[in-house]
Amino acid sequence: MIKLLYKKIIPEKQRIHLRLSVQKAISPVYYGENYTCNCCGKSFRKFLDKGNVRRKNVRCPRCDSLERNRLLLFYLEKETDIFTKNLKVLHVAPENCLYQKLHSLNIEYIDGDIDPAYASHVIDITQIPYPDNYFDLVICSHVLGHIPDERKAIQELYRVLSKNGYALIMTLINKELEKTYENHSIKSPEERLKHYGEFDLYRLHGTDFEERLAKPGFTVETVDYRKQLGQDIVNRYRLGDGNREMIFKCTK
Ligand SMILES: [Zn+2]
Repeated sequence: MIKLLYKKIIPEKQRIHLRLSVQKAISPVYYGENYTCNCCGKSFRKFLDKGNVRRKNVRCPRCDSLERNRLLLFYLEKETDIFTKNLKVLHVAPENCLYQKLHSLNIEYIDGDIDPAYASHVIDITQIPYPDNYFDLVICSHVLGHIPDERKAIQELYRVLSKNGYALIMTLINKELEKTYENHSIKSPEERLKHYGEFDLYRLHGTDFEERLAKPGFTVETVDYRKQLGQDIVNRYRLGDGNREMIFKCTK
């Protein structure tokens, strides 16, 4: 009852902000030496668990970062110009931990989500309200599996990316599937969880994900950045097993 009232009175955006503030305040109880989060810069004795199918020791107790967010931040810092050049950046469905690192940079930073509670701009990825070739860098992590019309979304990402730019796209991949599994008779959240591994996924990507991205014209390079960083870094920063952490670097 109290929970329902709280949800009714406090708008979702403020509830998210409040949850993150409380989490940050109590995070010192997790401080330790075993693991480090490069998003918030703190070290912990353990990370928290995450996911409908539980992944152990993966979520930062302070900033909420996950394996893929920490890996992507390493990539952005070491392999892109985002921290040094005045780029035009589109960040689709921005993760708070990355938003905190990016929104105050000297760049044109557009963070967008279909739900206004989750970003500064309301953006439908299948109808991105920006001109052709506009963005130097597009970040779109773990979004496409949730979009009913994925083909249109990929076309839009292609359209708004500049000719010298690149899009960094990530998704959950089942490496045993040669072809992406998508069954249109699956409707309920329970069935989605059973078939795709998450309540709100529309498909489970297979190893053909690269081909799907290439359809509108992208040239796709699949980067396993965990391998480039090495096992010590992967262990300390908990950078995952590679199922959610491949970086698909797309150029046009
Ligand atoms: Zn953190």
